[in-house]
Amino acid sequence: MRPRIGVTRCSATDDYVAAVTKAGGEPVVLDHGGDPRRAVEAVAGVLLTGGADVDPASYGERDHPSIQVDHARDRFELPLVRLALDRDLPVLAICRGIQVLNVAAGGTLIRDIPSDIGLAVTHAIAGSLTALAHAVRIEPRSRLAALLGAGPRRDAAEVLVNSRHHQAIKQVASGFVSSATAPDGVIEAIERPDARFCIGVQWHPENFHETGEFDGLFAGFVAACRRGTVT
Ligand code: MN
Repeated sequence: MRPRIGVTRCSATDDYVAAVTKAGGEPVVLDHGGDPRRAVEAVAGVLLTGGADVDPASYGERDHPSIQVDHARDRFELPLVRLALDRDLPVLAICRGIQVLNVAAGGTLIRDIPSDIGLAVTHAIAGSLTALAHAVRIEPRSRLAALLGAGPRRDAAEVLVNSRHHQAIKQVASGFVSSATAPDGVIEAIERPDARFCIGVQWHPENFHETGEFDGLFAGFVAACRRGTVT
């Protein structure tokens, strides 16, 4: 049985769809014009994809010259993830997705890493989608560590990741914990320990669907979705 998994539409939906399909899910692309309530009722889990910035007003901050907001996606995805959290639907949130997840749950964002943190670590690498940008230290007892340890990467304590973001988690939302950090202290993953499955990562694991470095993450997500649909 392939659980139906809602994948929010973005400019590069194909790799997310491929990663979910490889892991045994049936992707259903969710358009931003849709009704979030109807969307969560039709799927067994939600994958929040990458894209532009979340409106800083939604976490009580002023605008910043570096920020490019996608209001249409905010209007759809913020209520979508709140509904998913209310129902304890499995959520996997990637890049913009981890930021949407954290803001939807009451957390805040660093509006611009180069301005606020500096350039010690390159978080916006150009070139190939799988170009490795920096290391990420995974919290040893996190769910993320367990999932990545079960995959081709034997040592989940530290992994190398791609990176295409200029924002990051600032205050982690209540009920969530940080489960990975970059060498400059930027939070690279969060999870909600009391949820069935709720993990956000700041990098792009979907770009590795052919080589499988992060298959364990997608496998765990789809397995949680599948368990939720068995009655
Ligand atoms: Mn990064």
